Amino acid sequence: MRSQTLTTWPQERAENDHEYRYRYIQARESSARTYANSIDRVLERGVLARLYDTEGREYLDCLSCAGTLALGHNHPFVMKHVWDFLQSGHLQQGLDISTPAKYSFIRTLFDILPEEFAANARVQFCGPTGADTIEAAIKLFKTATGRRSILAFHGGYHGMTAGALALTGNLQAKKQVHTSLPDVHFLPYPYAYRCPFGLGANVTEVSLQYIERLIADPESGIVKPAAVIVEAIQGEGGVIPAPVRWLQGLREITRVHDIPLIIDEVQTGLARTGDLFAFEQAGIVPDAVCLSKAIGGGYPLSVLLYHERYDRWSPGAHAGTFRGNQIAMVAGTATMEFIQRENLAEQSRAKGLLLENHLHAIAKDFPHVGDIRGRGLMWGMEIVKYDSASDPIGSRPANGLLAKMIKRECIQHGLIIETGGRHGAVLRLLPPLIVTNDDLLEIAEKLRKSIQAAVECKKENI
Ligand code: PMP
Repeated sequence: MRSQTLTTWPQERAENDHEYRYRYIQARESSARTYANSIDRVLERGVLARLYDTEGREYLDCLSCAGTLALGHNHPFVMKHVWDFLQSGHLQQGLDISTPAKYSFIRTLFDILPEEFAANARVQFCGPTGADTIEAAIKLFKTATGRRSILAFHGGYHGMTAGALALTGNLQAKKQVHTSLPDVHFLPYPYAYRCPFGLGANVTEVSLQYIERLIADPESGIVKPAAVIVEAIQGEGGVIPAPVRWLQGLREITRVHDIPLIIDEVQTGLARTGDLFAFEQAGIVPDAVCLSKAIGGGYPLSVLLYHERYDRWSPGAHAGTFRGNQIAMVAGTATMEFIQRENLAEQSRAKGLLLENHLHAIAKDFPHVGDIRGRGLMWGMEIVKYDSASDPIGSRPANGLLAKMIKRECIQHGLIIETGGRHGAVLRLLPPLIVTNDDLLEIAEKLRKSIQAAVECKKENI
C-alpha cells in the first residue's frame, strides 16, 4: 500500500486533488516521458480544437496529439462511426485477417491516393505506430533491391525504434545507444535559414547537385542504396518545407539511378499541408509512402504503401500482432471520408494563409522571431538570439531556452503548442484541420501574449 501514496505530498492536502494526480503520475512514470513535462496539467476532455483539464481550464489545441487528430477531439462524424461499429458485434481486432472494416479502409485509401501511385500500389499494415511503417520500408527495400545502405536527411525524423532512429537526424535519443543500422548516410536537406553550405535559398540547387554527384561518384564511399527516405516537410526537424523544385529534382535523381524513393508522410499525410499528401504539391510519384497518425482517425494505425514491383518479400516478413486494429480502420475511413467531403485539403491551404499572416504580424513586434515556415496547417516559428551577430546568410543562433519559456507561457495562456527543430528553438503549430478562422485569431492572440510574457520574464531574470 505504501507504494500507492506520494511520500513528498504535504499531509494537509487532499490526495485526490488535481496537482496530486499530476505529481503521482510523474513520480511513477519513466523519465523518458516528453509532452507531460511541459504540459503540467491533467487533461480530461476534448471537443474538436479545445481541451479541458480536470480543473475545467480550457486550452486551444495546436498540437493535435502530434498531428494525429486531423478532425480534432471527439469529432461527431468519427465518433458516430466508431460508436456504431462498437455495437455491431464485428471483430475489434483481427491480426491481418480480411474483414469488412479493412475492406472499406483500403477502398477509401486507394480512392484518395493520387491515381498514378494508386494504380500499382500495395499496402502493408504495420504495427500500430509510425515508426513501424519505417521499419517495414527498410526491410522491404533491402529485400527487394538486395542492397544494404539507406540515405536519409539531416534534421529528418522517422521514429524511435532501432531502424527508424538510425534514419533520424536528431542525436538526443541516439547518442546514448550504440545504434543500430549500419550503412545509413545523411544528406543535406534544403533548410535555407540554416543552409549547410552557407548559401541560403541557393541550397535547393546545391543540395541536389551534391546528392547527384555523391550517388554517381564511384569513390563517394557509399554503395548504391536500397532507398532514399525523406519528409516533404520536415516536422519534428523544425517545420522545414522542401521546395517543390528540390523534391522534383530528388525524384529525378533517384529515378535515373534506380533508387527507390520513400516519402515519410506520417505527420504530413491527410490534408495537413494543403494537399492530401505533401508530395503531391511537387507532382511527383514516389515508390513508397509511409502513413500513420491521421490515417487511424485518432486510433493507432500505420501503413506502408509501395509500388508492386517491390513486393518481393515473403509471408510473415513483417508480421506483428496489432496490425488489425479495426476501430482505427473505421475511424480512419470516416476521417478520410470527412476530409474529402468537406474538402479539408483546400480549407487547410486557406486557413494556413490566414495563420501565416497572423504569425508575420506577431514577428513584426518581436525580433526574437528569426524565421517563419510552413504550409497548410503546419507552421513553425524559429526563435533566435536576436541580439547575437548573424551569420553571413543572415541567420542568428537558435534560442531554445526562450522557445521553451514561450511554450510554458502558452500553457498558462490556454494554448498547447510544441517545440522542435535545432536546439528545440522552433515553435510548432499543428492545429486540427477543423480549426475555425476565429480559433486561429485566438491562437495568434494567445501566442502573442505568451511570447510577450516569456520575453519579459527573461529580461527580469537577466
Ligand atoms: N515519421 C514522422 C515524419 C514523424 O513525424 C513521426 C512521429 N512524430 C514518426 C515517423 C514516428 O511515428 P510514431 O511516433 O507514431 O512512431
